Amino acid sequence: MMTLRGRRAGDREGGGFNKGRRRSACLREDFEDWRFGWLDVPGLIRGADAIYEFPLVDRDPLPRWSHGRMTLLGDAAHPMYPNGSNGASQAILDARALVRALAAHADPVEALAAYEAERLPATAAIVAANRRNGPEQCLQIAHERAPDGFDRIEDVFAPGELEAIAARYKVLIGLKRASEPLVR
Ligand SMILES: Cc1cc2nc3c(=O)[nH]c(=O)nc-3n(C[C@H](O)[C@H](O)[C@H](O)COP(=O)(O)OP(=O)(O)OC[C@H]3O[C@@H](n4cnc5c(N)ncnc54)[C@H](O)[C@@H]3O)c2cc1C
Repeated sequence: MMTLRGRRAGDREGGGFNKGRRRSACLREDFEDWRFGWLDVPGLIRGADAIYEFPLVDRDPLPRWSHGRMTLLGDAAHPMYPNGSNGASQAILDARALVRALAAHADPVEALAAYEAERLPATAAIVAANRRNGPEQCLQIAHERAPDGFDRIEDVFAPGELEAIAARYKVLIGLKRASEPLVR
């Protein structure tokens, strides 16, 4: 099994996994020029038994998650691009906030409102950041600054720049407090 990430954006309207893909379109639109000397991607695709599309899909943040005694959590509440690899982590943070709110409020409707007020804006910001490539934005920046390649990463990024990108994202997703220094 081989997974390759092509250029096409996710299909916001009809996102679904395991859609078959035509070999000719797959090569023409995405991978025809993926020949690296040591790896012939078009050759691999031509020789594959079957080709499936595995789209990257997110959704615009919802205006609300809670309706009376019902609420959303995890991917149902905030599907996001996997840049940063933290969809599951955010579901766990949702669960923690939900438990805390239910323990603090006698009225479950108030608890769900408090949970939503804490987590909806926080996760909406991550959905937006992941559309800009999240912490993987350094790959795009490197490509733009050195389109013909480079030998030393230090020639492409200023001292501390990579660490600052990672640290800002950690603050955004709740792995690091804003009061902690961005770079040690
Ligand atoms: C390829 C891939 C790699 C990923 N890598 C990472 C990673 O490295 N780090 C990370 O943090 N996150 C990662 N994620 C994201 C992570 O898997 C999700 O964000 C996380 O699983 C969301 O959890 P959830 O409980 O909200 O939803 P889910 O895990 O999707 O759970 C929903 C459950 O509900 C069940 N269900 C659906 N409909 C019904 C129904 N009608 N009745 C009963 N049950 C139903 C489903 O079968 C499923 O078990 C990755 C996701 C993918 C696809």
